Amino acid sequence: MSHEHVVVIYPHPDDESFGASGTISKYREQDIPVTYLCGTLGEMGRNMGSPTFANRETLSTFRKEELKKACKALDIDYRLLGYRDKTLEFEQREQVAAHLKEILQEIRPTLVITHYPGYAVHPDHDALGAAAIQAVADMEEDVRPELWAQAIATNFEKTLGKPDIIHDVKPYWDKKMAAIETHLSQASGMMSLIKNKPDFNENEELEHLRYERFYRWKLEE
Ligand SMILES: [Zn+2]
Repeated sequence: MSHEHVVVIYPHPDDESFGASGTISKYREQDIPVTYLCGTLGEMGRNMGSPTFANRETLSTFRKEELKKACKALDIDYRLLGYRDKTLEFEQREQVAAHLKEILQEIRPTLVITHYPGYAVHPDHDALGAAAIQAVADMEEDVRPELWAQAIATNFEKTLGKPDIIHDVKPYWDKKMAAIETHLSQASGMMSLIKNKPDFNENEELEHLRYERFYRWKLEE
């Protein structure tokens, strides 16, 4: 199915590049607009660059700038949702869902991509994924977009089965690497891994980057 507008909802600057930049590039290649709704500025992250160039006070400024560069590299729009990093799990899900629903009703995407709650490793990922699913469920059926959930936990396929959508991002690998590289404060470890192990087929961590996998979310009626 061809889409008219794709919205990606994740909590941190860099989730879009690591998790979905191949998929995003695929849609951009078809001239389909993509908007990233970024939950926080990732200001509580432990990585401060390598060598270190940020501190706790300046990290949000760097990450905001990195996000801007990444979205420019991917040729997509983005909006900052303005939540605080590492606190999304304490927000009222209903409130976050209402906030997201308002934006989705304005953008009117035909596809929404978010994290799979419970299989997304980080509490912020789980919480925003759950709120995004709630937001879509709360929309009127005639404007409700398709919904894909991305699991990233180790061995998630054992419990969830084979993902419905598997994008081999090899054709978009350079774009994906360029997007990841813009997140300088976060990506240096990953980049050295890639540079040291160019044969990414042999490397599990890179394998995880090469295939972007999603489950089609079935809303309960
Ligand atoms: Zn994240």
